[in-house]
Parts: sequence; C-alpha cells; structure tokens
Amino acid sequence: MLQNIKPPKKLIYLDNAATTPLDPVVLKAIQPYLTNEYGNPSSLYKLGQKSAEALADAREKVAGILSANPKEIIFTAGGTESINLAIFGIARAYELAHKKKGHIISSRIEHHAVLDCLDALKQEGWEITLVNVNKDGVVEMGELEKAVKKNTVLVSIMYANNEIGTIQPISEIGKRLAGLNRTRINKKLPRIYFHSDGCQAGNSLDLSTNKLGVDLLSINGSKIYGPKQVGALYVKAGTPLRPIIFGGGQERNFRSGTENVAGTVGFATALELAKKNREKENVRLKNLRDTFLTKILKSIPDISLNGADDRITKLNPKLLNGGLKRLPNNINISIKDIEGEVALFYLDGYNIAVSTGSACSSSSPDPSHVILALGKPQKDAFSSLRLSLGKYTSKAELDYVLTVLTILTKELRRIEK
Ligand SMILES: *Cc1c(COP(=O)(O)O)cnc(C)c1O
Repeated sequence: MLQNIKPPKKLIYLDNAATTPLDPVVLKAIQPYLTNEYGNPSSLYKLGQKSAEALADAREKVAGILSANPKEIIFTAGGTESINLAIFGIARAYELAHKKKGHIISSRIEHHAVLDCLDALKQEGWEITLVNVNKDGVVEMGELEKAVKKNTVLVSIMYANNEIGTIQPISEIGKRLAGLNRTRINKKLPRIYFHSDGCQAGNSLDLSTNKLGVDLLSINGSKIYGPKQVGALYVKAGTPLRPIIFGGGQERNFRSGTENVAGTVGFATALELAKKNREKENVRLKNLRDTFLTKILKSIPDISLNGADDRITKLNPKLLNGGLKRLPNNINISIKDIEGEVALFYLDGYNIAVSTGSACSSSSPDPSHVILALGKPQKDAFSSLRLSLGKYTSKAELDYVLTVLTILTKELRRIEK
C-alpha cells in the first residue's frame, strides 16, 4: 500500500510493556543454572548447596533493591502469581482468623491479574469497591478514603499502569493508610493492608518499599529484560498471609515447589541492571518519547493522548521518581476514525510491533477498560495504540515509525471515506 516505504530488516519493537527481550548479561548469569548447576536447593550435598547459595544471593539482591529484609521476599512464578498470592493470601488469612469475609478496595484501571482475583473473591461473598480515576488515570485520595469501610482489610493499587503508564501516588496512599490504621486500632477495626502491583515499575521507578509504604509489592522479570514466569512478592514482616500453593514447604512455606534457581538468578540480575541504569535511561526515554509525541500530535490531525501528558514535567531528582506522572517509555494515543487493530496489522507489515489495549486482552474484542475509565468514548478505546519504548529503542526507529504512521493514517482515513 505505501509503495515508497521499505520495511526495515530488523524488527522495531515498541511493545516493551507487554514483555522485553532478555538482556545478554542476564542470559549469561542464568546459563550455569540451566546446565552444570542443576542441583535442588533443598539437597544437602555440595551440588544442592551451590543452588541454595545462588538462591540466597538472588534473594539478598532483590531485598536490597526493595529496601527489605531477605525474609520478606517470596519468589514466585511471575507477576500474576505474586498478585494472586497477595490478594488471596490476605483474604484467606483474614477469613481463617475472623470466620467471615471482608471488604477490599482497588481501582478500575488495574491489570486483569488483580481485577479477576477480586471478581473471584466477590463470587465467594467478599465486598469489592473499585474506585474511579481522574481524566489522567490517577486515583484520587478523596475517592479512596470515601471507599474505606469498617470491614476493609486490603487496598490494592497498581504502581504504574500497563496501558497508559500513569504512575499512582503510592507513597501518599501508604502514608494515608498508615494514619487511618493508627485510628482503627483504637476502634478495634481490622488493619488495612496495602498491596501494589509493581509489574510495570521495575525499569523506571523506585522500588524502596519503605518509601512507598506498602505491605505487599508484586514484581516480575518479564518486563525488565529478565526471564518470564519468575517474580517476587514482598511481604512486610508481620503481615498475615496464607499460602495459595501447598506442598514441599519451599519459600518458608509461602510458595511450595522446587525453586526456579536459574530464573530467580536472572530476575535478580535484571533488577540490578535496571536500577543501575534507571536515572540515565529515564532521561533518555523521556526525551525520545516527548519528541515523538510532540511530532506526531503536530503532523497527524485528530490524534489524542490517553493518560497524563508528562511533556511539561521536568525531572527533579529531589522528588520520588523525579516527579514523573507517567512511565517515560509509554505512549498511548487514539487515532480518530482508525481501528487500532487494523493499524497494528499494517504496522506489523512494516516490521513495527505495537499493541492495542492491553496485550493480554488483544484476542478479545472488548474495548480497553482503562481507556473507558478515563471517561473517553468507546470509539477512542477501539482506536487506541500503545507504543512502549525500551532500552534498545533509537531515535532513528521512532523517526521511521512517525513516517509510516503519518502516511498510513492518511491512507486508512481516505479508504474509510
Ligand atoms: C505484566 C503485568 C502483570 C502480569 O505479570 P506476569 O509476569 O505476566 O504474570 C501484572 N500486572 C501488570 C501491571 C503487568 O504489566
């Protein structure tokens, strides 16, 4: 269709919010544990103990980045499992201790890993409140406080959104809940535990759990250039949690099953790399993203940005996360009169990988619940495209994408008419 444009040989991968390629450094760290060092960490002879040491070392590294004690880290098989363990773990512990069900607060823009756990609990008789977000996709403190009830036992708010990249004020929510909990003790009301889904946060945001004021934090390897199906749940000491997987008693009884030593070593290595490069990479990505966004909004008519516009934000090292309101690699736009999915397939023809809505729901025709929660009409949800940059994204690649998108939009709109 766009005869005078040739697709590049190398894929232009702009779907880093769905998953990232494995960093070669991570691959190198993993390799021994996929080959010679295959021992079971529970085995008492040298081969097993070498695996146990590698696991302990990974746990210490992850704990360091989360400003936590190694005992507060439970390794899991990814973000979804960490989230399930956090939500069901708190709910089951409460049910067991109090012989009744309670109330949980979350937001309308959570990942399905959270929303579907809450749906399942609702079917069991739990009360669930999903608070609205403002037009930028930010949970407002007032809304959250209004939702609190006498029997609230858990608040789960994601750190950064996977579709529109909005960063939630986790540390403020943490402080407010801590204040509330102090008054609830005197009233003999249950303590409200605070979980955050940090699966989109590992590359760009501060994961110090003491700064965030969370009791539970879910993180994973798949979005930080680490292996997939490996992650961790931070559980603050003293938080009552029931396991959801029973068996051999690994992970201090919280997650039975032979440990994924290779994956865990890779995950810890990936987290360390992300932290080391975070500040520099945030500046680079924000510049790339902001320039691209300004250009695309200027060169294509009737494009709107979904989520917070962070172009005016100047990174301030004194603020948590430099004061960012949106992940620096995230672009989410609605292109009027163009079906996001149609654009996606044309772009694939030009060796450009992007996504519509969230990757996990791209096989279903439902409009994105996140875009709808912003107060936008359905047609904006269907015409949305997410471009998520990564550490291998270059300016030349984005210039090419801009050219293709400009011509493609014109063509598709002409055909539509
Ligand atoms: C990817 C993602 C998850 C799920 O993580 P998996 O490791 O794929 O199970 C959960 N929440 C958010 C925000 C995510 O981006």
